Amino acid sequence: MRIVLLGAPGAGKGTQAKKLVEKYGIPQISTGDILRKAVADGNPLGKEAKAYMDKGELVPDSVVIGLVKERLTRDDCKKGFILDGFPRNTAQAEVLDKVLNETNIPLQVALCVDVDMEILMKRLTGRRTCRQCGQMYNIYFSPPQKESVCDKCGGELYQRDDDKEETIRRRLEVYEAQTAPLIEYYKNKGILKTVEGTGDIDEIFANICSILGA
Ligand code: AMP
Repeated sequence: MRIVLLGAPGAGKGTQAKKLVEKYGIPQISTGDILRKAVADGNPLGKEAKAYMDKGELVPDSVVIGLVKERLTRDDCKKGFILDGFPRNTAQAEVLDKVLNETNIPLQVALCVDVDMEILMKRLTGRRTCRQCGQMYNIYFSPPQKESVCDKCGGELYQRDDDKEETIRRRLEVYEAQTAPLIEYYKNKGILKTVEGTGDIDEIFANICSILGA
């Protein structure tokens, strides 16, 4: 199965992608995760990407497209893949189509996870992560028992740099201006499906599975 997950930051693409990985045994390719790892490693790619990410802007296409092209050539993508956070604009979508068509493995589904703007703001501004074990919380929807302390390991909870309010506003603006037009792009190709992304995570996943016919 070859899927693109569409949806605004905070829509839950990453969460649902992980569940799809478990069910189908195909890899999740998250450009956000690849870039965050490069930033944490402090390599040249990470240094270049960080400035854009901290401002909520898109990292240049030339950088991101190269990463995805390389990732798609690996063996684990032969059975399929879940693209999460890529493509982010029409230029990226066109390159992706070209690359996949050249190898005769076109995309099968572009699945849009749809969530109301007000809920997105709370999901993003409320997100906290444990520095020690990586456990995620949300101060509005799933708060820790004690403020800023991880229930699991007692580690300190922190807010991702790009989850600060000003950056979030910019990320949502960038989404509306550059990424949302991809909904029309994939609709015109006849492969767009939409799932309501609010509510219980497992219920959303069950809806996704029925949409994918699995
Ligand atoms: P995400 O975790 O998908 O929300 O991505 C976090 C940040 O990484 C974004 O705000 C962008 O700065 C950058 N990023 C992730 N994916 C892409 C992409 N496909 N194109 C450009 N920038 C990206």
